[in-house]
Order: sequence, then C-alpha cells, then structure tokens
Amino acid sequence: MNYRHIYHAGNFADVLKHAVLAQLVLYMQKKDKAFRVLDTHAGIGLYDLSSEEAQKTGEWRDGIGKVMAAEFSPAVAAVLKPYMDAVRELNPGFETDGALKLYPGSPKLSRMLFRPQDRLAAMELHPEDNTRLSRLFEGDFQTRVTELDGWLALGAHLPPKEKRGVVLVDPPFELEGEYDRLVKGLATAYRRFPGGTYCLWYPLKKGAPIKAFHEQLQALNIPKMLCAELTVISDRETTGLNGSGLIIVNPPFTLKDDLHLVLPALKDVMAKDRYASQRAFWLRGEEVIERDEE
Ligand code: SAM
Repeated sequence: MNYRHIYHAGNFADVLKHAVLAQLVLYMQKKDKAFRVLDTHAGIGLYDLSSEEAQKTGEWRDGIGKVMAAEFSPAVAAVLKPYMDAVRELNPGFETDGALKLYPGSPKLSRMLFRPQDRLAAMELHPEDNTRLSRLFEGDFQTRVTELDGWLALGAHLPPKEKRGVVLVDPPFELEGEYDRLVKGLATAYRRFPGGTYCLWYPLKKGAPIKAFHEQLQALNIPKMLCAELTVISDRETTGLNGSGLIIVNPPFTLKDDLHLVLPALKDVMAKDRYASQRAFWLRGEEVIERDEE
C-alpha cells in the first residue's frame, strides 16, 4: 500500500467527488430520519495543504485553489456552497488572506455536514493513515473508524441499521483490476442494500478501460445509475490522471440537473488545455441514455 492521498488532496478529482458527496449528504437530510455514510476508503480525513507532501505535487492549487478563487454564477455557487463552506470553515483566514491551509477529506466533509442523528462508518486499511483518522474522530460518538478492507465492508457493513445511507467507494487504483473490483463490489453491496445511494470514483487516463467498465455496470441491471466525468487535460499530455469519473446509484432526482450546471463551470475553472471536457448522463435510468459532451 504505497498510495497516500496527501499528495493529491484537493486536486480536480477531489473537487468533483467532494462537491457531489456534499450534495448526496444534504439530500439525505431532506428527511428527519437518521442515515449513515459508509466511506470504504476513507484516507486520513484532514489534509494539511502546507505540508511537504502536498506542496511537492501542488495538485490542490489547480483544484480547490482555483475553485475557491473563482467567480461562479449564483446558480452554480448555490450548488457548490455546502462544499465550499466546509472548506471556508476550516480556513477562517481565507476571506482576508486568500490562503488555504486545510482541506477536508471525504469522512471529514460528511461529518461536517451531519446533524446530531447522522452516523459515519469509515474504513481505512493503511495502518498509519488509520491511526491518524482514528485520532481525528477520537471521542466522536457519531463516527466509527475501522481498520478493515473497504471491499469487505461492502458486504459486512450493509445494510446499515438506519436503513438509509450513502456509500462512497474511493479506492486508490494502485492495483490491477480495480475497475472490476468496483463493479463486483457494487453488485455485492446493492444485493444487500438496494435502497442505498452509492458513489463510486474512478480515474480517467490514457488506455483506461472505461467503455468496458460502463458496459459491465450496465449489465448489473441496477435501474438508476448516473455517470459524471470531468477531464482537465488531453490524455496525450499526461501519463497520470487526465480526468475522473463518478458513478452514482440511486442519485437524488435533482443531481443530474445540478451536474449539468456545475460540471461546465468546474471544467472552465480547472481546465489545463482546450481538450478539457465534461459529461453527465444516465448509464442506466428511466430516461433514454443521453450524453452531453463538450
Ligand atoms: N476517500 C478519501 C477522500 O476523498 O478524502 C480519499 C481516499 S484515497 C483515494 C484511498 C485510500 O484507501 C487511501 O488512504 C488508502 O490507504 C486506502 N486503502 C487502500 N486500500 C484499501 C482497502 N482495501 N480498504 C480500505 N482502505 C484502503
């Protein structure tokens, strides 16, 4: 396990993932009833953007750095507000000096948005990262951190006892076969908890088997599956990530329209070349599949 998220925290892929996660959490709160977020690959929860590791790649500067400095239309700003407010809350000096020092990882972001009745179960397998995450949430009775293989949690920890929940699956993609594991993991989890909302993250890079991945997902026959993708640079220009995608199962009914608003704005703000693109479409849905590409 070599992957450490501190090198990538707040990058363009985190921005899309976390902006959507905030929407999913807030949507669950339209009902008073408690829900649970299961975060299968949680990371350390809070990232110091001034650390040597974050400074070394500087990826956050082209992600959250640009987003926090951008002027969005009121409609886009309204959708991004819960996410951006969480980042502002961690950086109280931001309004005066424009400096970003801390960035919330997925478990911290969920937790910041919770009401007293909501619960978080976070899995992190890297022993050091697990220790840091456990310390972050020490004494927090709304959160349980477990040093468990997140793929196993998709079986063992579902359905949640609240019977309502958001499941984020955000693996590091450092091992072969991670796209297949995502499909199998979703199949297992959905069988146990078909009413859950799922958000799966995947990388876009040259040669990535995206078409086959989407076809495998479609073959699961899960009725409501939305796909959102954002690339910031041509895949000819980088050997690393040129974009990232999310599969959202049982999305809030407002999410597709929100994505159609927000994705073009995020693309404009974080684009590194003219090949940047975005799309949001039903992979499986009540509507005929439609693709919006730029
Ligand atoms: N979800 C986090 C966020 O958005 O802030 C970032 C997570 S990072 C992409 C992936 C994390 O998964 C790493 O911290 C890594 O140590 C952890 N990890 C890797 N394999 C795992 C496994 N099988 N089960 C649980 N965690 C794992």
